Amino acid sequence: MTFTELAPWFVLAFAACAFPVLFFVTAPYGRHARAGWGPMVNARAGWVVMESPSVFLFAYVWSQNPQFKEPMVLALGGLWLLHYLQRTFIFSTLMRGEGKQQPLLTAALAICFNLFNAPGNAAALRSRPFDGWFFVGAALFLVGFAINVQSDAILRGLRGPGEQGYKIPRGGLFSFVTSPNYFGEIIEWVGFALAAQTLASWAFAAFTFANLAPRAVSHHQWYCKTFADYPTVRRALIPFVWSVLFLVATQ
Ligand code: NDP
Repeated sequence: MTFTELAPWFVLAFAACAFPVLFFVTAPYGRHARAGWGPMVNARAGWVVMESPSVFLFAYVWSQNPQFKEPMVLALGGLWLLHYLQRTFIFSTLMRGEGKQQPLLTAALAICFNLFNAPGNAAALRSRPFDGWFFVGAALFLVGFAINVQSDAILRGLRGPGEQGYKIPRGGLFSFVTSPNYFGEIIEWVGFALAAQTLASWAFAAFTFANLAPRAVSHHQWYCKTFADYPTVRRALIPFVWSVLFLVATQ
């Protein structure tokens, strides 16, 4: 087995470990940063460096894919790069909270993860006819991308230049959930997996949920503790989750 064939299995193993652990140990960056996690690095630079393999390494392995010039492989790689060019260069440039730091450890773990995930996904892309799964998946991906970018923009708008504190976000899907940016990100990668139909893409969708769902719960608990007037109708991650479960259970 080659490295890129093994990579999705590592990603699935990361997901299986991360999901239970992150409910007990919240990743120590952003509002959950705390002492005792070793040396710190600039948060903005950290984002650029840790996400760069998902742009550059992905693009290299994608260009070496024997089916690189097939329209389906080009389209899927294009969706991937749309997300990661935004995350690596636009999100990191626009983010507020000047001078904020994050532990070197979390950046190093993210780089490590991306060194498996990016080449695994790029090498796995295969051509097939443009079918319904592709169009449904690509549409979901784009909806998730829009939700993610809009929600991150609302968060950014809460801070003026030089500010580092936290306020209650309002508008967009924040009316329903605490972490719509995470919700959008999960929708994106589930959409990508539906469109690509590779083990690597499903492994990444599973990891994204395993990583972000516990963090959304931690964010939600943090807001409820920090702001006495935090809207009680908001769920942590999935809008209308209890109504949907109730409907399913009573069918
Ligand atoms: P957060 O929602 O914790 O923070 C996003 C940005 O908004 C940060 O700059 C944060 O500042 C700021 N912010 C958050 N809440 C407030 C508030 N109430 N008031 C003012 N500013 C606020 O997201 P993450 O930093 O965890 O993630 C950033 C992006 O990366 C998201 O789009 C996420 O989906 C994506 N991501 C994807 C992962 C994956 O597994 N695919 C993993 C991790 C992130 P500060 O940093 O100071 O808290």
